[in-house]
Amino acid sequence: MKKLALHWKIIIGMVLGVIYGLIASKYGWIDFTDNWIKPWGDIFVNLLKLIAVPLVFASLIKGVASLSDISKLSRIGAKTIAIYLTSTVIAVTIGLLMVNTVKPGDGFDKDSVTKTEEIEEGASKKIAAAEEVKEEDEGPLQFLIDIVPTNIFDSASNNRNMLQVIFFAILFGIAMVMLPDEKTTYVKGFFDGINDIIIQIVDLIMISAPYGVFALLAGVVVEFGASAELFIALAKYSATVIVGLLIMILIVYPIILMVFTKVKYLDFFKGISPAQMLAFSTSSSAATLPVTMERCEDHLGVSEEVSSFVLPLGATINMDGTSLYQAVAAVFIAQAYGMDLDMGQQLTIVLTATLASIGAAAVPGAGMVMLVIVLGAIGVPTEGLALIFGVDRILDMMRTVVNVTGDATVATVVASSEGQLRDVTEEELMS
Ligand code: ASP
Repeated sequence: MKKLALHWKIIIGMVLGVIYGLIASKYGWIDFTDNWIKPWGDIFVNLLKLIAVPLVFASLIKGVASLSDISKLSRIGAKTIAIYLTSTVIAVTIGLLMVNTVKPGDGFDKDSVTKTEEIEEGASKKIAAAEEVKEEDEGPLQFLIDIVPTNIFDSASNNRNMLQVIFFAILFGIAMVMLPDEKTTYVKGFFDGINDIIIQIVDLIMISAPYGVFALLAGVVVEFGASAELFIALAKYSATVIVGLLIMILIVYPIILMVFTKVKYLDFFKGISPAQMLAFSTSSSAATLPVTMERCEDHLGVSEEVSSFVLPLGATINMDGTSLYQAVAAVFIAQAYGMDLDMGQQLTIVLTATLASIGAAAVPGAGMVMLVIVLGAIGVPTEGLALIFGVDRILDMMRTVVNVTGDATVATVVASSEGQLRDVTEEELMS
């Protein structure tokens, strides 16, 4: 019998998870699900997160050190960042166009949403976290200060500090390139080995992916059960975000791939889909990163040199889905408060949503916390977060898919422009 491809197994796991979740909500198996099903999803995500820091570290050092000279690094680096910024600005613009056309917040009763205690509590936690971000973010250069760690072990101990780990790994790699070969042979071999071992661990973890996503989705559906009413009330807003995200996935990325590479979008889609499903189930680009890298290298033909540099950076700073969502959410909240935003404020959204998405950590809910920066910049009350809190998890799942797809698209484009995109076989695509 032909072996079922991984993405099919994951899809089956997801569908069964949703079905189970619906049944569990209906029959009140909430405690059972929380105690006996959900933990397996958490274990699965923990496993993925466990290898995120070592993977970024080893693969970036390997990637940078394998570049023959610094000029190649700066060329690839500049290109990557330029494309990342461009795609983010496109995403925010699409979000703004959508929300200004659909106007989901007009006539919306902002007091109708903040009713359940759970939501009040959850939203105020987010607002508190957001205020903290705002306070920390004092001077205009604070974000640069934050990138440079004072203690690499401190940074490595928290997945939220990925940018600091990336900074150190790039510095380490550059220093290796500058030294004569005989001084770095062993260190190079060491990181090569670590890198291969981690990729092997990813393969092991992925064996459990269908079960992991089952448990994750079962947990999410059971959690949602309670707020079904809210779900409907916010349907228009959610639909606006979702259509915007679909435009990115179905129109913008295919065009980018068509213009800059020879890759057929359907092939790209087949290759990357397991990473997209994982992004959906985990709501975290960081947790998905190991799989994104493996898919890009082994199934899309992106060279290791490019993927090991472009993807870890992208997971941290390139969040097209998040920036689009922030633009829609900010305007939606403004509309719900009856505020009209002028052109200047809309442009401010483009700027701040781009920055806020760069600053957002690649973990669940981070985009919503950073939204406060956008709200603050256009003078919309932070309390408005409570309005959208109820549907944030599902939108988080979807925007993370776009974040990950965007990273993979850019990795493919950069690899193609560097002549580092090999042709893949049908078998590699499908497996
Ligand atoms: N969950 C998103 C990610 O990891 C970030 C966010 O928008 O909250 O990519």
